[in-house]
Amino acid sequence: MNIEISRAARSWQTKAREFADDYLQPHEVEAELNDGELPEDISARNKKRALELGFASIDVPKAYGGLELPMEEQVAIWEQLGRVTNALSWCFSEAQSWMFDACSEEQIETYVLPMMRGERKDCYAITESGPGSDVSSLEATAELDGNDYVLNGEKWYVTSGNLADFFWFQARMPEENDEALFLVDQGTPGIEITACPLFSHTYAAHHPTYRFDNVRIPRGQRVGRAGDGMAYTRSWFRHERLMIGARSCGAAARLIEDATEFANNRIVDNAPLSEKQSIQIMLADSVTELWASRLMTYEAARANDRGDDLKTQHARCSMVKLYVSEMANRVADHAVQIFGGRGYMRENVAERFYRELRVDRIWEGTSEIQRLIIARSLLKRGLDGM
Ligand SMILES: Cc1cc2nc3c(=O)[nH]c(=O)nc-3n(C[C@H](O)[C@H](O)[C@H](O)COP(=O)(O)OP(=O)(O)OC[C@H]3O[C@@H](n4cnc5c(N)ncnc54)[C@H](O)[C@@H]3O)c2cc1C
Repeated sequence: MNIEISRAARSWQTKAREFADDYLQPHEVEAELNDGELPEDISARNKKRALELGFASIDVPKAYGGLELPMEEQVAIWEQLGRVTNALSWCFSEAQSWMFDACSEEQIETYVLPMMRGERKDCYAITESGPGSDVSSLEATAELDGNDYVLNGEKWYVTSGNLADFFWFQARMPEENDEALFLVDQGTPGIEITACPLFSHTYAAHHPTYRFDNVRIPRGQRVGRAGDGMAYTRSWFRHERLMIGARSCGAAARLIEDATEFANNRIVDNAPLSEKQSIQIMLADSVTELWASRLMTYEAARANDRGDDLKTQHARCSMVKLYVSEMANRVADHAVQIFGGRGYMRENVAERFYRELRVDRIWEGTSEIQRLIIARSLLKRGLDGM
């Protein structure tokens, strides 16, 4: 399915597709049957290749040695990486452009640039059990004590907590009537894992619950300036919501390709399954929705590159996240159905995506929260402002 993207985006698409096909995809079943883990030499090889290809620096400003790719090109890369299950594409850390706006030079040197070089890995500690989706009501606190901040609170679902060596920790500062992100090193006294539940997908990255009990960090670990509040967390949300759209498009494309191939080769009633109209309807609906999804995802990326109004972009990223993640879930459901019993086997890509894509309707803001954002934007700015 061709849609018009820039020549540069097409070139990145080819590189990312080769990486996905040659390095990652052949190891999916092995990872699935081994708790998401790959042998160390394979993981190291994948990470090395991803760094050589420049994937870890695509969103890093040129002034810091990055590639500073337009969002359209970044979407082209993540779309192809989205074709792979078991999060095998998460083999490199992502230093993102907002970090260079938010962080001090010292923080950039200590945390962000080492991520780009593959030397450090981060994780996000934002969600809490009580406020849940309502991230404006977080209860974790950061209080100044001399030259230190003292952090308290419990954070749930900290993805990659078992692999990362530092946190982005969101807290409110009651004394300053403000909130902010803080950089916190793993192993700082007072940080404890209180639970590590199993989830539906089979990923090497776990999602532990952490308790922060009087965790003392230097004042300089606060990210951003007074009054910045949730601004940087919102930048991260926009980026992630767009990339969830990109990855969901890649996943849906692979599912449609594999289900079509299966339907062409599977003989029922002495004829290929693909000749049955009920199967054709599922394929037709899937491919139509994928086309719509790709158009909107790339358009949202280009809106970012044009520098469209930030609030409009925020709503558009929510529309992409909402529609495209739900589209990919529908496509996965159709694919399982087309594969029949084979589609229920863990070694089948449709079974794995059926489980894995479900969380894209939950994390980075549930579908219901995306609808709230979109509706609020419509009510404030009208259709012309969307
Ligand atoms: C595998 C996994 C990994 C995650 N990784 C991270 C991570 O790395 N860092 C991090 O900080 N968080 C992470 N999360 C947390 C994730 O972002 C939250 O689970 C999500 O935002 C929803 O919050 P909640 O689970 O508390 O659900 P709740 O807020 O309890 O929502 C429950 C239900 O109520 C609905 N609902 C809630 N509020 C409203 C409303 N106002 N109007 C209508 N419906 C509403 C929701 O849509 C949902 O259907 C992860 C979650 C999962 C499952």
